[in-house]
Amino acid sequence: MASELTFIMVKPDGVQRGLTGEIISRFERRGFKLVNLKMVHASKEHIEKHYEDLAGKPFYPGLVKYMSSGPVVAMCWAGKDVVKQGRILLGATNPLASSPGTIRGDYAIDVGRNICHGSDAVESAKKELELWFGQEAAGIQYERAIDQWVYEN
Ligand code: GDP
Ligand code: MG
Repeated sequence: MASELTFIMVKPDGVQRGLTGEIISRFERRGFKLVNLKMVHASKEHIEKHYEDLAGKPFYPGLVKYMSSGPVVAMCWAGKDVVKQGRILLGATNPLASSPGTIRGDYAIDVGRNICHGSDAVESAKKELELWFGQEAAGIQYERAIDQWVYEN
């Protein structure tokens, strides 16, 4: 089936707090398909590029420092409506506004330590996947036997 892709990342605080497996599990259990994953300790310049739309915000220098302070887990997930559904699984940007049952609503408190990232649109997902995975932006192509139990068609 034609499948949408999104870029999901466990941020440095998520890695430090041992929440990588939990975040992956939430996407797996929903039925989404993991098509790429790597651990990266990103440079300041790489994070500046990732968050270039936010340059100028008062929290931007702190955001760049936080995001380049330790390794992150960069992932590409595939599935029907995965960009929007991924954002729903993560919860609101500010964990204080995230519903219980979402990742941020269950595991985070401060907006500046909100443990995970997810692309906000199909176009930004494409851009972010190219930035983090380069040539492998489209992920690994493989069939999953369970897809007939996840999707009707
Ligand atoms: P996201 O797409 O839900 O991650 O939210 P944004 O794209 O608006 O912001 C990117 C990231 O910047 C967020 O996930 C937060 O880590 C951080 N951020 C956003 N707003 C604030 C803020 O008001 N204060 C601080 N300290 N960080 C923020
Ligand atoms: Mg964003």
